[in-house]
Amino acid sequence: MDGRRRMGDGRSEMADRRELKRGLSGVALALALSAMLTACARKPDAPPVRPIVTTEFDGDAALKYAAAQVAFGPRVPGSGAHRKAGDWIVAQMKARGATVVEQTWMHTAQSARKLPLRNILARFNPQARNRVLYLTHWDTRPTADMEPDPADQLLPIDGANDGASGVGLFVALADALQKKPSAFGVDLLFVDGEDYGEFGPPLVDVLLGSTYFASHLPESGYKPVFGILFDMIGDADLRIPQEINSVQMAPDVVQRVWSKAEEMGRGSVFVTRAEQQITDDHIPLLSVGLKVIDVIDLDYGPGNSYHHSRQDTMDKISAASLKIVGDVALALLR
Ligand SMILES: [Zn+2]
Repeated sequence: MDGRRRMGDGRSEMADRRELKRGLSGVALALALSAMLTACARKPDAPPVRPIVTTEFDGDAALKYAAAQVAFGPRVPGSGAHRKAGDWIVAQMKARGATVVEQTWMHTAQSARKLPLRNILARFNPQARNRVLYLTHWDTRPTADMEPDPADQLLPIDGANDGASGVGLFVALADALQKKPSAFGVDLLFVDGEDYGEFGPPLVDVLLGSTYFASHLPESGYKPVFGILFDMIGDADLRIPQEINSVQMAPDVVQRVWSKAEEMGRGSVFVTRAEQQITDDHIPLLSVGLKVIDVIDLDYGPGNSYHHSRQDTMDKISAASLKIVGDVALALLR
């Protein structure tokens, strides 16, 4: 017998409809039960069911660009390596067709030291009204204060992940944008002085570039459709839970990013769970009404032992991780 309904078999059409409905709800119930069982059976970070979707983003190139940053030496504000690395970012962005706007200013640190700081804004399709803002910090922390040995705590860090990974990601994104422009205007913002001082509270000499940008927006009424801060996204052991300030203040952007990642089969990396509340460069921008979230993996090495330590070196980050984040970042611009 096939599933088609035959009329005139002695039962009313209404009865048939009821039966159909009961049949459907039985199916729905079975589906719901099986979904529940699947959910229970799957570990929270189990591999995603969806197939992996990739883009033309080049993770190997991103890793090379990160290495180029690290090769300058620690990019501590005021140092020669810092100046050279900044010049390099400007040259890379101009070579890829961006309109580059630099913001330079002098910051007096709590130590009374004068820091020459520099934000670099690389604008693709600068005339477009619908814009997306991506930002990352390009400076590195002057001291490895999480080192166990006090002598090492005074030394600077390579910042392969904490600094260079975001820069590498952005240069590779610029490669892709040059080849195939986004439907959006895209602003890649490299902020300075994120990691110079203490996160406290109170904050002292940190988030300097994002704070400066928040009060010196590129034009009046600047309001990107959405914004994403990328920080420490190169960890070879990558896992990016949602960040609590972002979820509270720009839930639609969090939804946009994590659902795109899920759609691309990256649900095991972009974990749909808010786990940590992080003070980062998105905060000054959120506070002036820009919808910017933080995409960050703040669990770097065993017990986060590579963070702000001499262990933050190139061998701890990977092209594969940069590719995952780059694919999602690029897909969001299409
Ligand atoms: Zn840091």
